[in-house]
Amino acid sequence: MKMLINGEWRDSVSGKVFAVHNPATGDAVGEAPLGGEDDVRSAVEAAGGAFPDWSAKSPRDRAKVLFFAAEEVRRRNTDLAALLTAEQGKPIREAVDEINGFANILEYYYALSAGERGEFMNLRGYGRITVERRPLGICGAIIPWNMPAIIMGWKIGPALVAGNTVVLKPARTAPLTCTKLAEILGDAGLPPGVLNVVTGSGETVGREIARNPAIRKVSFTGEVGTGRQVALDAAPTLKRLTLELGGSDPMIVCDDADIPMAVEGVIRGRFYNCGQVCTAVKRLYVYESIADEVIRRLKSRVEAIVVGNGMDRGVSMGPLNNRAGLERVVGQVDAARERDEGEIVAGGRVPEGKEYERGLFFLPTLIAGVPHDSVLFSEEVFGPVLPIATVPGLDEALDLANNSRYGLGASVWTRSADVIARATEGLEAGIVWVNQHLKIPPEVPFGGTKESGIGRENGSRALEEYMEEKAVLIRL
Ligand code: NAD
Repeated sequence: MKMLINGEWRDSVSGKVFAVHNPATGDAVGEAPLGGEDDVRSAVEAAGGAFPDWSAKSPRDRAKVLFFAAEEVRRRNTDLAALLTAEQGKPIREAVDEINGFANILEYYYALSAGERGEFMNLRGYGRITVERRPLGICGAIIPWNMPAIIMGWKIGPALVAGNTVVLKPARTAPLTCTKLAEILGDAGLPPGVLNVVTGSGETVGREIARNPAIRKVSFTGEVGTGRQVALDAAPTLKRLTLELGGSDPMIVCDDADIPMAVEGVIRGRFYNCGQVCTAVKRLYVYESIADEVIRRLKSRVEAIVVGNGMDRGVSMGPLNNRAGLERVVGQVDAARERDEGEIVAGGRVPEGKEYERGLFFLPTLIAGVPHDSVLFSEEVFGPVLPIATVPGLDEALDLANNSRYGLGASVWTRSADVIARATEGLEAGIVWVNQHLKIPPEVPFGGTKESGIGRENGSRALEEYMEEKAVLIRL
């Protein structure tokens, strides 16, 4: 596959490529050009050239392209999902959902486009005032590998409907699905240069996107440390930033919770996408009185998770996406084991057997009785490992839940209206769920507090994040 710049398939200026591997088998899935700063500059030039015509169209005309693309994405879901599973590793069922999710997001912004009209005021003494909302210009989108299609949709949906043009950088270990989706948008009528994809490393392509003075906004999703670097690189040009960063979501299970439902919530919340979700359940706080039952039920559910190649029938959890991620998870679990931090109730190691030899697998893992100062609680664990601690009641649970530099998501599981009121008020997070976790429909604003990020994606106001207002005061 090549890069899509100005509607053309291009090699990188260096002529170099990098291979994309299937994390379940180690086999090559494809290759992509190793782009660099010059490739970003070409993409920026293309995006700048396309901006006047694209921004002059009505929001509805722009959004129609997204609507047609969404239809085509749904039609080609099977192939796209297979490509996503091959490069990312998730079970095919989850890949199908993610591709549909991308289409849902495009359709959502199509629907919102009809309401995009600006404002009008008639103020005595000042005259008639219009507040126009105008696109920002060229926007950069830098995305991770864990949910590449969904996160691409969160960024390009509002950016394009608002009239901006985009330079997008996919992650190095999952660039193929994003490039294919951009091709489909082009086939659906997106003019050349409106959406450009530059593949390559964060150090070159990503940093040039953050630094480039012609780019007026960068929306970045990834780790906290990388987000900080993006902010530093973007500072000299004072561009707008949306930073969607890491999380360490707490889940609190109270003694009046529906325990089987909470257990299913943990299974989906922690082990979906092999635990590689920003809003995965990463810390479990269970009331002491029900802890034994919750852990017993969890253990039996976790042991029933079928680990394997996401394309194989019956597999419910795939490999981790990349070796660095696997090594980090192995290191975090080993550190906890060496310091005797808790009891490994399930998993805790890479699986044995011929079918796992070439893949980046780790068993779904439960660690109970984890001390509150463990790295498993203080660091983001981006893999299928759940540290569990018991709590005497809600006050302690809220204190522990909030004792984190992260503040992305959080959930509380209870039937009590009083607990719901106190927990939803007290939890420091951008999104709080009650008796559920992980679900994020396109209508709901999404983003973090504290070090989990700046700004919001999703929801109707995401369009405003890609526009600026111009007030015009007319005295006649
Ligand atoms: P990452 O920060 O390593 O990389 C993200 C993207 O940034 C990639 O495309 C990468 O190539 C690029 N990049 C790397 N260095 C860069 C630099 N110096 N300048 C510009 N770009 C650079 O993150 P990752 O490992 O791909 O993703 C996992 C992380 O993303 C986790 O922390 C997870 O919680 C977070 N995440 C957050 C959200 C959210 O919405 N808050 C969603 C998904 C994932």
